[in-house]
Formats: sequence, structure tokens, C-alpha cells
Amino acid sequence: MDDDNNAFVQWRHAPARAWRYCPLCRAELIDHAWDGKMRRYCPQCGFVYWERPLPAVAAVVLRKGPPEEMVLVRRRYPPEVGQWTLPGGGVEAGESVVDAVRREVQEETGLAISVDAQLGTWSTPSSETIITFFVAHPVGGELKAGTDAMEAAWFPLRELPPLAFSTHRDAVKMLLQQRG
Ligand SMILES: [Zn+2]
Repeated sequence: MDDDNNAFVQWRHAPARAWRYCPLCRAELIDHAWDGKMRRYCPQCGFVYWERPLPAVAAVVLRKGPPEEMVLVRRRYPPEVGQWTLPGGGVEAGESVVDAVRREVQEETGLAISVDAQLGTWSTPSSETIITFFVAHPVGGELKAGTDAMEAAWFPLRELPPLAFSTHRDAVKMLLQQRG
């Protein structure tokens, strides 16, 4: 994608209350209770906006040592610009979570990976996103920051920089605990 377009893209999830018009028939949406919860509803064609969290994936990519090392990327775009995180991103329609994590790691780090295990799934504090974390190892490619990242680098597991996002910190903490 053309980098210059990023300034004009709304990356944040649009909450249900921000939806004003029916995407099917263009009538004005109203609030209506469905399953005990107020939802945006189209009185003209019956469209209901079922607001749900966005599925995302992230990877702990490990390289055998000593010392054993993990790949981190430094974010180029908001939120948390300049902070280190695990590589990852949103799951696209038509791909599995494993396809998604392979693609995101390739895009952000240049590495081809093989997935070894699933670490767990966390909801972000806002509950806007649910992130499934995988443990993987590189099987090809060269470490090189993609367009979404300012930098990509290997870090020894015991010398990690502070990570952005509580979900990433929790997932890495669990991994380190599992490894003793
Ligand atoms: Zn409608």
C-alpha cells in the first residue's frame, strides 16, 4: 500500500454509536434492543449492526541460542509510535489465524515462520480486539523491518525492552514463566 495514504485512513475501530446510516439501503439507523442489548438497527430493511471485537494475532518468534532470542518490531504508526511490540496484526477475511500470523510476521519482519504452539488469547483492555498469540520459529527470509515498522531486531529473552500494550506484556510474561 502507498505509505502516503496512511494519513487519510481511520485505523481505529468505529464503535456502533458512530454508525449513522444503513450500509445496505442508506436509511438512518436507530437504536433498538436485540438480545437484551441496544444495537444500531435499520427500520427500513432490517439490517442490524452486530458489534463484535476484531480478531488479531501476534507472534513470539524464537531463535535458539544461547542466548535464546525473540523478534520485536518498533511501531511506525499510532498507537504507541516508536514502542517495541511483538509482530502481529488483524486477521483478514478469508484467512485462518495461522495464515494471518505467518503473513503479518513476513510483512513486518521479512521472516518466514513455522508455528509451534498457541500461547493463548487475550482481550485488549477496551475489548475492541481479541489477540491470539503464537510461538513460532524462523524457517527462512532475512530480518528486515516492513513498512509498518521502524525497526525489527532480535533480543535475548532476558534483555527485552519495555513493550507497548498490556496484552503483549502478559503474553511474553506467560512465555517466560513457562520457560522457568
Ligand atoms: Zn437498511
